[in-house]
Amino acid sequence: MDEWKSLREKCLACSRCPLSETRTNVVFGVGRQDAEVLFIGEGPGEQEDLQGEPFVGRAGKLLDDMLSIIDLDRSMIYIANMVKCRPPKNRDPQPSEQEACSEWLEKQIELIDPKIIVCLGRISAMRFISPDFKITREHGQWFERGGRKIMALYHPAALLRDPRRRPETFEDLKRLQKEIKETCARTY
Ligand code: URA
Repeated sequence: MDEWKSLREKCLACSRCPLSETRTNVVFGVGRQDAEVLFIGEGPGEQEDLQGEPFVGRAGKLLDDMLSIIDLDRSMIYIANMVKCRPPKNRDPQPSEQEACSEWLEKQIELIDPKIIVCLGRISAMRFISPDFKITREHGQWFERGGRKIMALYHPAALLRDPRRRPETFEDLKRLQKEIKETCARTY
C-alpha cells in the first residue's frame, strides 16, 4: 500500500496516549508530500481539532500572513504538529504525549525528506534543535540536524500575545527566504 496512505490510516486510528480520548479529529498534517520546507508546530488547538487541519484558527491566519510575506503559501510547503491530537485547554503537550506521538512525525519527515525545517515555537525547537533551546535568544538562527537546515520562529500564537516580537520575526522570515533561495530547487 502507498506509504502515505497507510501512515495516515494508522495515525487516524491512534490511541497511544490519553489525548486520543478527548480529540474530535486527529490533525495529521497538510501540504506537499515532497515539500522542501517543513513547518512543525506544537499541537492542534480548538479550531484545528474541530476541522482536522493544522493552523486554521487565529494563529493559523497569522501563519498564512507570515508565509505570504516571503511569497510562500500552504501548497508549497508541508505543515505538521508534534502531537496530532489537541491537548485539553491548549496546554503544552507532555513529554510522554510527545514521545507517544513521535513515530508519526518522524515517518512524515522521512517521507517528505525536507531540506529545511522551521520549528514554530519553543516546544518544537526544544525537540528538534536542542532540549535547552532558548527562543528569545536563538530564534532565527540556523542549525544543522541530520543533514537538514533548521531554524525556529516565534510561534504565531506568541506573536498574537506579544506583537512587539513581530519586527524580529520579520527579520527571521527574510533569513528563511534567503536560505530557501539558496538551498531549494523548487520552492520560490
Ligand atoms: N498551534 C499549533 O502549534 N499548531 C496548530 O495546528 C495550531 C495552533
